[in-house]
Amino acid sequence: MVATPIGNLRDFSARAREVLAQVDVIAAEDTRVTGQLLKHFGIGTPMVSLREHNERAMAEKLIARLAAGEAVAQVSDAGTPAISDPGAQLVAAVHAAGYPVVPIPGASALTTALSAAGFTCPHTLFYGFLPPKRKQRQDALAPLVALPYVTVFYEAPHRILDTLADLATAFGGARIAVMARELTKTFETIRRAPLAELAAFAETDANQQRGEFVLLIDAAPTDSPAQEAGEHDAILAPLVAELP
Ligand code: SAM
Repeated sequence: MVATPIGNLRDFSARAREVLAQVDVIAAEDTRVTGQLLKHFGIGTPMVSLREHNERAMAEKLIARLAAGEAVAQVSDAGTPAISDPGAQLVAAVHAAGYPVVPIPGASALTTALSAAGFTCPHTLFYGFLPPKRKQRQDALAPLVALPYVTVFYEAPHRILDTLADLATAFGGARIAVMARELTKTFETIRRAPLAELAAFAETDANQQRGEFVLLIDAAPTDSPAQEAGEHDAILAPLVAELP
């Protein structure tokens, strides 16, 4: 499982390039996209296409190649394969067939955005893409609102305004969030602000609606009166037990 850059070719690791040059075949999400990357780095390894719709059938073929002693690499169009991308079915099938799965780590929009977000909460929920339809999106958001985790979404440019509006409604306009756009690319923008402000920022500048997005929402505040009362009880109970 070989990670490729999410926009900046200099983020392609030496190990990733070495592995892609050495394996017998590369299973690529889109052979045209990966073909350009390989050409840039002078790598001539043959490719097969592994997409969501043919992943199960292709997994069988690739396992037959592993059985014949070949080495297989898998890549997606950008970033780490199997993260909101094809690959998980292949990995599960390879484990089941008893062959080792070797991750070659590198860029992922998730970790890249999280590292620049500045959230101190140590727990993160990676949601990936929300449903495209508004009602389903709102239903999906409802159970996330009170969680004590930073929540991370991926989003496409044509839905960014609707999604920011729905996030502000669900989590409240005051919840701190980060919009990470075009990470590692020329127009990289990382903006941290309350959700209502972020939605207005994107709405008033058409440039901020272009490209690829990660949206990160800070964890729900944990100092609700009910929680505080619970914490006080937890502190007081052993002290009260000590009283004569
Ligand atoms: N496997 C990839 C990874 O490891 O991050 C993610 C693939 S997913 C199909 C594509 C989504 O990832 C985009 O719609 C966007 O939400 C996010 N993404 C990918 N590259 C990005 C970038 N350079 N800046 C911001 N978001 C990015």
